[in-house]
Amino acid sequence: MAEIDLAALEINLKQVQSQIGSAKILAVVKANAYGHGGATVARFLESRGVAFFGVAHFEEAILLREAGVRLPILVLTGIRPDQVAEAVRFNLTPVLFNRELLQALRQYTERSQTMVSVHLKIDTGMGRLGVSPKEALSWIQEVASCPGIRVEGILSHFSDADLQDLSFAQSQIAGMASLWRSLKHSGVHIDYCHLANSAATIQLPLAHFNLVRPGLMLYGYSPLSEGPTVPLRPVMRWRTRVISIKRVPSQTPISYGRTFVTQRESLIATLSIGYADGYPRALSNRGVVLASGRRVPVVGRVCMDMTMVDLTEVPTLSVGDWVTLMGSEGTAAVWADELARLTGTIPYEILCRISDRVPRVYLNETAPPTLKDPSE
Ligand SMILES: *Cc1c(COP(=O)(O)O)cnc(C)c1O
Repeated sequence: MAEIDLAALEINLKQVQSQIGSAKILAVVKANAYGHGGATVARFLESRGVAFFGVAHFEEAILLREAGVRLPILVLTGIRPDQVAEAVRFNLTPVLFNRELLQALRQYTERSQTMVSVHLKIDTGMGRLGVSPKEALSWIQEVASCPGIRVEGILSHFSDADLQDLSFAQSQIAGMASLWRSLKHSGVHIDYCHLANSAATIQLPLAHFNLVRPGLMLYGYSPLSEGPTVPLRPVMRWRTRVISIKRVPSQTPISYGRTFVTQRESLIATLSIGYADGYPRALSNRGVVLASGRRVPVVGRVCMDMTMVDLTEVPTLSVGDWVTLMGSEGTAAVWADELARLTGTIPYEILCRISDRVPRVYLNETAPPTLKDPSE
Protein backbone atom coordinates (compact mmCIF):
# COMPACT_ATOMS: atom_id res chain seq x y z
CA MET A 1 0.00 0.00 0.00
CA ALA A 2 1.32 3.43 -0.93
CA GLU A 3 0.12 6.27 1.24
CA ILE A 4 0.21 9.58 -0.58
CA ASP A 5 0.13 12.52 1.79
CA LEU A 6 -1.28 15.49 -0.06
CA ALA A 7 -0.40 17.79 2.84
CA ALA A 8 3.26 16.97 2.11
CA LEU A 9 2.66 17.71 -1.56
CA GLU A 10 1.31 21.09 -0.57
CA ILE A 11 4.35 21.83 1.59
CA ASN A 12 6.65 21.00 -1.31
CA LEU A 13 4.59 23.17 -3.64
CA LYS A 14 5.00 26.05 -1.19
CA GLN A 15 8.75 25.44 -1.24
CA VAL A 16 8.70 25.82 -5.02
CA GLN A 17 6.62 28.97 -4.74
CA SER A 18 9.00 30.43 -2.20
CA GLN A 19 11.93 29.98 -4.61
CA ILE A 20 10.52 31.49 -7.78
CA GLY A 21 9.18 34.98 -7.12
CA SER A 22 6.52 35.87 -9.64
CA ALA A 23 7.21 33.00 -12.05
CA LYS A 24 4.43 30.48 -12.54
CA ILE A 25 4.52 26.73 -12.07
CA LEU A 26 4.12 23.94 -14.56
CA ALA A 27 3.76 20.88 -12.34
CA VAL A 28 5.25 17.83 -14.00
CA VAL A 29 2.85 14.94 -13.44
CA LYS A 30 4.11 12.52 -16.08
CA ALA A 31 4.47 8.82 -15.31
CA ASN A 32 1.38 8.82 -13.11
CA ALA A 33 2.82 11.78 -11.16
CA TYR A 34 6.04 9.86 -10.55
CA GLY A 35 3.98 6.97 -9.25
CA HIS A 36 1.84 9.08 -6.92
CA GLY A 37 -1.34 8.92 -9.01
CA GLY A 38 -1.61 11.44 -11.84
CA ALA A 39 -5.28 12.28 -11.61
CA THR A 40 -5.49 12.81 -7.85
CA VAL A 41 -2.22 14.70 -7.69
CA ALA A 42 -3.15 16.94 -10.61
CA ARG A 43 -6.59 17.70 -9.25
CA PHE A 44 -5.11 18.57 -5.89
CA LEU A 45 -2.44 20.83 -7.42
CA GLU A 46 -5.05 22.44 -9.64
CA SER A 47 -6.82 23.63 -6.50
CA ARG A 48 -3.53 24.96 -5.10
CA GLY A 49 -2.56 27.45 -7.76
CA VAL A 50 -0.30 25.86 -10.34
CA ALA A 51 -0.66 27.24 -13.87
CA PHE A 52 0.08 24.26 -16.11
CA PHE A 53 0.61 20.54 -16.05
CA GLY A 54 3.25 18.68 -17.96
CA VAL A 55 3.00 15.05 -19.02
CA ALA A 56 5.18 13.02 -21.35
CA HIS A 57 2.53 11.46 -23.56
CA PHE A 58 -0.74 12.26 -25.23
CA GLU A 59 -2.41 9.30 -23.46
CA GLU A 60 -1.37 10.64 -20.06
CA ALA A 61 -2.94 13.97 -20.91
CA ILE A 62 -6.21 12.33 -21.97
CA LEU A 63 -6.37 10.47 -18.64
CA LEU A 64 -6.05 13.77 -16.79
CA ARG A 65 -8.77 15.38 -18.89
CA GLU A 66 -11.04 12.40 -18.29
CA ALA A 67 -10.41 12.83 -14.57
CA GLY A 68 -11.68 16.39 -14.85
CA VAL A 69 -8.41 18.32 -14.96
CA ARG A 70 -9.02 21.66 -16.67
CA LEU A 71 -5.74 23.56 -16.60
CA PRO A 72 -3.57 23.64 -19.72
CA ILE A 73 -1.60 20.42 -20.19
CA LEU A 74 1.69 20.49 -22.02
CA VAL A 75 2.57 17.24 -23.78
CA LEU A 76 6.33 17.28 -23.35
CA THR A 77 7.30 14.68 -25.94
CA GLY A 78 4.90 16.09 -28.51
CA ILE A 79 2.08 14.30 -30.24
CA ARG A 80 1.84 12.38 -33.49
CA PRO A 81 0.21 13.94 -36.55
CA ASP A 82 -2.71 11.49 -36.27
CA GLN A 83 -3.42 12.72 -32.71
CA VAL A 84 -3.94 16.37 -33.66
CA ALA A 85 -7.73 16.34 -33.87
CA GLU A 86 -8.08 14.66 -30.46
CA ALA A 87 -5.48 16.95 -28.95
CA VAL A 88 -7.46 19.98 -30.08
CA ARG A 89 -10.69 18.45 -28.84
CA PHE A 90 -9.16 17.84 -25.41
CA ASN A 91 -7.47 21.23 -25.40
CA LEU A 92 -3.94 19.87 -25.05
CA THR A 93 -0.84 21.91 -25.72
CA PRO A 94 1.77 19.96 -27.65
CA VAL A 95 5.46 20.68 -27.52
CA LEU A 96 6.55 21.18 -31.12
CA PHE A 97 10.01 20.33 -32.44
CA ASN A 98 9.58 18.87 -35.92
CA ARG A 99 8.16 19.69 -39.33
CA GLU A 100 5.93 16.62 -39.42
CA LEU A 101 3.77 17.88 -36.58
CA LEU A 102 3.94 21.49 -37.77
CA GLN A 103 2.57 20.41 -41.13
CA ALA A 104 -0.25 18.43 -39.51
CA LEU A 105 -1.17 21.30 -37.18
CA ARG A 106 -1.23 23.71 -40.10
CA GLN A 107 -3.49 21.53 -42.18
CA TYR A 108 -5.81 20.74 -39.33
CA THR A 109 -6.23 24.31 -38.10
CA GLU A 110 -6.76 25.64 -41.63
CA ARG A 111 -9.35 23.03 -42.44
CA SER A 112 -11.23 23.28 -39.16
CA GLN A 113 -10.73 27.00 -38.56
CA THR A 114 -9.47 26.33 -35.03
CA MET A 115 -6.52 27.62 -33.05
CA VAL A 116 -4.01 25.46 -31.28
CA SER A 117 -1.39 26.62 -28.78
CA VAL A 118 2.06 25.09 -28.86
CA HIS A 119 5.35 25.47 -27.03
CA LEU A 120 8.47 25.24 -29.16
CA LYS A 121 11.40 23.16 -27.98
CA ILE A 122 14.94 24.44 -28.31
CA ASP A 123 17.91 22.13 -27.83
CA THR A 124 20.41 24.15 -25.81
CA GLY A 125 22.53 21.15 -24.87
CA MET A 126 20.47 18.12 -23.92
CA GLY A 127 20.88 16.57 -27.37
CA ARG A 128 17.39 15.15 -27.31
CA LEU A 129 14.39 17.11 -28.60
CA GLY A 130 14.39 20.57 -30.12
CA VAL A 131 15.81 22.76 -32.84
CA SER A 132 19.27 24.20 -32.45
CA PRO A 133 19.62 27.71 -31.02
CA LYS A 134 20.99 28.84 -34.42
CA GLU A 135 17.82 27.87 -36.25
CA ALA A 136 15.50 28.78 -33.40
CA LEU A 137 14.65 32.39 -34.22
CA SER A 138 13.62 31.76 -37.81
CA TRP A 139 11.78 28.56 -36.82
CA ILE A 140 9.81 30.39 -34.14
CA GLN A 141 8.97 33.22 -36.55
CA GLU A 142 7.82 30.72 -39.13
CA VAL A 143 5.55 28.88 -36.71
CA ALA A 144 4.23 32.12 -35.21
CA SER A 145 3.20 33.29 -38.68
CA CYS A 146 0.83 30.32 -39.16
CA PRO A 147 -2.67 31.68 -38.67
CA GLY A 148 -4.04 28.74 -36.67
CA ILE A 149 -1.03 28.25 -34.41
CA ARG A 150 -0.31 30.27 -31.32
CA VAL A 151 3.21 30.02 -29.99
CA GLU A 152 2.50 30.32 -26.32
CA GLY A 153 5.94 29.35 -25.06
CA ILE A 154 9.47 28.32 -25.80
CA LEU A 155 11.29 25.78 -23.69
CA SER A 156 14.51 23.90 -23.33
CA HIS A 157 15.78 21.22 -20.96
CA PHE A 158 18.89 20.93 -18.80
CA SER A 159 21.25 18.01 -19.00
CA ASP A 160 23.05 18.53 -15.69
CA ALA A 161 21.57 21.31 -13.56
CA ASP A 162 21.96 18.99 -10.56
CA LEU A 163 25.76 19.24 -10.47
CA GLN A 164 27.92 21.49 -8.38
CA ASP A 165 29.79 22.59 -11.49
CA LEU A 166 27.07 24.58 -13.18
CA SER A 167 29.09 25.93 -16.09
CA PHE A 168 27.32 23.87 -18.75
CA ALA A 169 23.90 24.63 -17.25
CA GLN A 170 24.82 28.31 -17.32
CA SER A 171 25.64 28.08 -21.01
CA GLN A 172 22.21 26.55 -21.57
CA ILE A 173 20.59 29.44 -19.69
CA ALA A 174 22.61 31.94 -21.73
CA GLY A 175 21.36 30.32 -24.94
CA MET A 176 17.74 30.65 -23.85
CA ALA A 177 18.19 34.18 -22.50
CA SER A 178 19.70 35.37 -25.75
CA LEU A 179 16.90 33.80 -27.78
CA TRP A 180 14.29 35.31 -25.47
CA ARG A 181 15.88 38.76 -25.98
CA SER A 182 16.01 38.34 -29.76
CA LEU A 183 12.34 37.44 -29.79
CA LYS A 184 11.50 40.61 -27.87
CA HIS A 185 13.54 42.69 -30.33
CA SER A 186 11.98 41.08 -33.33
CA GLY A 187 8.52 41.86 -32.00
CA VAL A 188 7.31 38.24 -31.69
CA HIS A 189 5.21 38.08 -28.56
CA ILE A 190 5.36 34.80 -26.64
CA ASP A 191 3.98 34.38 -23.13
CA TYR A 192 6.37 31.90 -21.60
CA CYS A 193 10.01 30.94 -21.63
CA HIS A 194 10.85 27.91 -19.49
CA LEU A 195 13.81 25.74 -18.73
CA ALA A 196 13.96 24.96 -15.01
CA ASN A 197 13.45 21.42 -13.73
CA SER A 198 13.64 20.82 -9.96
CA ALA A 199 17.42 21.12 -9.84
CA ALA A 200 17.38 24.51 -11.56
CA THR A 201 14.37 25.64 -9.57
CA ILE A 202 16.49 25.05 -6.46
CA GLN A 203 19.90 26.27 -7.51
CA LEU A 204 19.65 28.36 -10.68
CA PRO A 205 17.37 31.36 -10.20
CA LEU A 206 18.45 32.75 -13.58
CA ALA A 207 16.82 29.73 -15.18
CA HIS A 208 13.39 30.51 -13.79
CA PHE A 209 12.34 33.00 -16.50
CA ASN A 210 8.57 33.22 -16.04
CA LEU A 211 7.65 29.54 -15.66
CA VAL A 212 9.35 26.62 -13.90
CA ARG A 213 8.79 22.89 -14.44
CA PRO A 214 9.42 21.03 -11.19
CA GLY A 215 8.71 17.34 -10.94
CA LEU A 216 10.77 15.46 -8.38
CA MET A 217 10.84 18.18 -5.73
CA LEU A 218 7.06 18.29 -5.62
CA TYR A 219 7.17 14.67 -4.54
CA GLY A 220 9.61 15.48 -1.77
CA TYR A 221 13.09 14.67 -3.04
CA SER A 222 15.91 16.90 -4.14
CA PRO A 223 17.76 15.89 -7.29
CA LEU A 224 20.94 17.46 -5.88
CA SER A 225 23.40 15.14 -4.22
CA GLU A 226 25.37 18.11 -2.89
CA GLY A 227 24.73 21.79 -2.61
CA PRO A 228 21.73 23.67 -1.29
CA THR A 229 19.15 21.72 0.62
CA VAL A 230 15.49 22.61 0.67
CA PRO A 231 13.09 21.39 3.31
CA LEU A 232 11.03 18.96 1.28
CA ARG A 233 8.84 16.19 2.57
CA PRO A 234 8.50 12.83 0.80
CA VAL A 235 4.89 12.52 -0.28
CA MET A 236 4.74 8.74 -0.49
CA ARG A 237 5.15 6.09 2.18
CA TRP A 238 5.15 2.51 1.05
CA ARG A 239 4.20 -0.34 3.33
CA THR A 240 3.32 -3.98 3.07
CA ARG A 241 2.24 -6.78 5.35
CA VAL A 242 4.05 -9.78 6.75
CA ILE A 243 2.37 -12.92 5.39
CA SER A 244 4.51 -15.54 7.09
CA ILE A 245 7.06 -15.80 9.89
CA LYS A 246 9.20 -18.88 10.37
CA ARG A 247 11.91 -19.82 12.79
CA VAL A 248 14.55 -21.69 10.81
CA PRO A 249 17.80 -23.33 11.82
CA SER A 250 21.26 -22.16 10.85
CA GLN A 251 22.29 -23.14 7.30
CA THR A 252 18.78 -22.67 5.84
CA PRO A 253 18.86 -21.39 2.26
CA ILE A 254 16.44 -18.56 1.48
CA SER A 255 14.76 -17.83 -1.87
CA TYR A 256 15.69 -18.48 -5.49
CA GLY A 257 19.24 -19.41 -6.20
CA ARG A 258 19.99 -19.93 -2.49
CA THR A 259 22.04 -16.70 -2.53
CA PHE A 260 21.43 -16.31 1.22
CA VAL A 261 21.98 -19.03 3.78
CA THR A 262 21.24 -18.35 7.45
CA GLN A 263 24.29 -18.30 9.69
CA ARG A 264 22.32 -18.71 12.92
CA GLU A 265 18.89 -19.79 13.98
CA SER A 266 16.78 -17.06 12.40
CA LEU A 267 13.34 -15.61 12.25
CA ILE A 268 12.53 -15.12 8.58
CA ALA A 269 9.49 -13.12 7.52
CA THR A 270 7.96 -13.25 4.09
CA LEU A 271 6.55 -9.92 2.91
CA SER A 272 3.82 -9.43 0.41
CA ILE A 273 5.92 -7.37 -1.97
CA GLY A 274 8.01 -8.19 -5.01
CA TYR A 275 9.46 -6.83 -8.18
CA ALA A 276 6.07 -6.98 -9.86
CA ASP A 277 5.06 -4.27 -7.40
CA GLY A 278 8.11 -2.25 -8.36
CA TYR A 279 10.22 -3.31 -5.39
CA PRO A 280 13.58 -3.58 -7.14
CA ARG A 281 15.00 -7.05 -7.57
CA ALA A 282 18.36 -5.35 -7.26
CA LEU A 283 17.55 -5.05 -3.52
CA SER A 284 18.13 -8.80 -3.19
CA ASN A 285 20.47 -9.26 -0.18
CA ARG A 286 20.87 -5.46 -0.06
CA GLY A 287 17.57 -3.87 0.82
CA VAL A 288 16.45 -2.62 4.19
CA VAL A 289 12.89 -2.44 5.52
CA LEU A 290 11.58 -1.03 8.76
CA ALA A 291 9.96 -3.40 11.22
CA SER A 292 8.79 -2.10 14.60
CA GLY A 293 11.00 0.93 14.10
CA ARG A 294 14.12 -1.13 13.36
CA ARG A 295 16.04 -1.52 10.13
CA VAL A 296 16.07 -5.16 9.08
CA PRO A 297 17.80 -6.66 6.03
CA VAL A 298 16.30 -8.20 2.93
CA VAL A 299 17.65 -11.73 2.70
CA GLY A 300 17.86 -13.74 -0.49
CA ARG A 301 16.47 -12.73 -3.83
CA VAL A 302 13.46 -10.45 -4.17
CA CYS A 303 10.82 -12.57 -5.95
CA MET A 304 8.02 -11.41 -8.21
CA ASP A 305 5.42 -11.24 -5.43
CA MET A 306 7.31 -11.86 -2.18
CA THR A 307 10.45 -10.78 -0.37
CA MET A 308 12.08 -12.22 2.74
CA VAL A 309 13.59 -10.23 5.59
CA ASP A 310 15.52 -11.32 8.66
CA LEU A 311 13.42 -10.53 11.72
CA THR A 312 15.64 -12.26 14.24
CA GLU A 313 16.34 -8.94 15.99
CA VAL A 314 12.65 -7.97 15.99
CA PRO A 315 10.82 -10.97 17.41
CA THR A 316 7.76 -8.90 18.35
CA LEU A 317 6.35 -8.72 14.83
CA SER A 318 3.40 -10.95 13.87
CA VAL A 319 1.83 -12.18 10.68
CA GLY A 320 -0.48 -9.46 9.41
CA ASP A 321 1.65 -6.62 10.77
CA TRP A 322 2.88 -3.85 8.52
CA VAL A 323 6.46 -3.16 7.62
CA THR A 324 7.72 -0.06 5.87
CA LEU A 325 9.48 -0.34 2.54
CA MET A 326 9.83 3.41 2.09
CA GLY A 327 9.14 5.82 4.89
CA SER A 328 9.97 6.28 8.54
CA GLU A 329 9.11 4.56 11.81
CA GLY A 330 10.19 6.46 14.88
CA THR A 331 13.76 7.58 14.25
CA ALA A 332 14.47 4.94 11.61
CA ALA A 333 13.91 5.80 7.97
CA VAL A 334 14.40 4.42 4.52
CA TRP A 335 13.46 6.71 1.66
CA ALA A 336 13.57 6.49 -2.12
CA ASP A 337 16.98 8.14 -2.29
CA GLU A 338 18.47 5.39 -0.13
CA LEU A 339 16.77 2.65 -2.18
CA ALA A 340 18.16 4.38 -5.26
CA ARG A 341 21.70 4.42 -3.87
CA LEU A 342 21.43 0.77 -2.90
CA THR A 343 20.38 -0.21 -6.41
CA GLY A 344 22.56 2.14 -8.43
CA THR A 345 19.76 4.33 -9.70
CA ILE A 346 18.00 7.62 -8.94
CA PRO A 347 14.93 8.25 -6.77
CA TYR A 348 12.94 9.08 -9.93
CA GLU A 349 13.19 5.47 -11.07
CA ILE A 350 12.32 4.01 -7.68
CA LEU A 351 9.16 6.14 -7.50
CA CYS A 352 7.85 5.77 -11.01
CA ARG A 353 8.34 2.02 -11.12
CA ILE A 354 5.98 1.38 -8.22
CA SER A 355 3.40 -0.54 -10.14
CA ASP A 356 -0.37 -0.36 -10.51
CA ARG A 357 -0.67 -3.42 -8.32
CA VAL A 358 0.15 -1.28 -5.28
CA PRO A 359 -3.03 0.39 -4.00
CA ARG A 360 -2.70 4.16 -3.54
CA VAL A 361 -4.36 5.62 -0.49
CA TYR A 362 -4.63 9.39 -0.21
CA LEU A 363 -4.25 11.30 3.04
CA ASN A 364 -5.28 14.92 3.60
CA GLU A 365 -7.07 15.20 0.30
CA THR A 366 -8.86 18.24 1.60
CA ALA A 367 -6.00 19.54 3.70
CA PRO A 368 -6.69 22.95 5.16
CA PRO A 369 -3.98 25.57 4.55
CA THR A 370 -2.58 25.12 8.06
CA LEU A 371 -0.58 21.95 8.18
CA LYS A 372 1.04 19.61 10.59
CA ASP A 373 4.53 20.21 11.87
CA PRO A 374 6.83 19.53 8.89
CA SER A 375 9.57 18.17 11.15
CA GLU A 376 7.58 15.22 12.35
C1 LIG B 1 10.53 15.28 -16.29
C2 LIG B 1 10.75 16.65 -16.80
C3 LIG B 1 10.84 17.74 -15.92
C4 LIG B 1 10.85 17.59 -14.41
O1 LIG B 1 12.14 17.23 -13.99
P1 LIG B 1 12.47 17.06 -12.42
O2 LIG B 1 13.92 16.81 -12.41
O3 LIG B 1 11.66 15.91 -11.96
O4 LIG B 1 12.07 18.32 -11.77
C5 LIG B 1 10.93 19.01 -16.46
N1 LIG B 1 10.95 19.18 -17.81
C6 LIG B 1 10.89 18.16 -18.68
C7 LIG B 1 10.94 18.43 -20.14
C8 LIG B 1 10.81 16.86 -18.21
O5 LIG B 1 10.76 15.85 -19.08
